[in-house]
Amino acid sequence: MITRLRHGFAVAALSIVCMLMGVFTSFAANSNGELDPINGSVISGWAVDTDNPDKSASVVLYVYTDGTTEAKELAKVTADQYRSDLKDSLGNGNHAFSYTVNWDSLEGSSFIIEGYVETASGKNRIYGSPQYSKKETAKADVKSTSNGPAGDKSTPAPASSAKGTKGAYLGKFQTTAYCNCSQCCSGGHKLTYSGTVPTANHTVSADINRYPIGTKLMIGDNVYTVEDIGTNVVDNKLDIYFDTHQQALDYGLKTVDVYAVE
Ligand SMILES: [Zn+2]
Repeated sequence: MITRLRHGFAVAALSIVCMLMGVFTSFAANSNGELDPINGSVISGWAVDTDNPDKSASVVLYVYTDGTTEAKELAKVTADQYRSDLKDSLGNGNHAFSYTVNWDSLEGSSFIIEGYVETASGKNRIYGSPQYSKKETAKADVKSTSNGPAGDKSTPAPASSAKGTKGAYLGKFQTTAYCNCSQCCSGGHKLTYSGTVPTANHTVSADINRYPIGTKLMIGDNVYTVEDIGTNVVDNKLDIYFDTHQQALDYGLKTVDVYAVE
């Protein structure tokens, strides 16, 4: 199964939090599907229309390019492949999908993927926001990045979208800090809940019912991206990722002003 970063809300309260990690595996948000971390050119996962669990669900994959907030449809796939780990909980287990994408055919250099199951009552998001970056071509793409997404029928994103400008005031948040050591995370996992590699000054855990994966939040002059979750990271609480445990300890607990990013 996917390795995920599971961490506590505060460095001081870790042992109890980590004991609860197993409970969190059955998080309700992934009950209708999940995207795996991207493996090269393969986007994979599973999905089910919970009203029609015996049917193979249709999944629409969307791509966000270079930090823009406008998603573009990437592909439509059918989740009809067998995966043994789905069999016990999901009928015949024929609910997995995979899609091979030619990243070079897409403009831009960094991509976030989201998936939605098509149901009779509309589209339901499946879990995870895996990312892909054309590292080797990132420099060459800087110019096109600043032009915003091409071919988008809506208003182009502002040129500053990669970093973002300060938007609406969201309020005072209680913030804590964590790293990916075994003290902060059960088993010392290396990836965030959304499948990304956690990065200092970038990765933050939030209550994703309020601030979904991919949401950008500004604290001070820095723009963080919601990529992770935590057992007690609810409501207006955030858990900020640091590279080392000492830095996380040094951060402690702070109440900060948080702004949306436009
Ligand atoms: Zn740590």
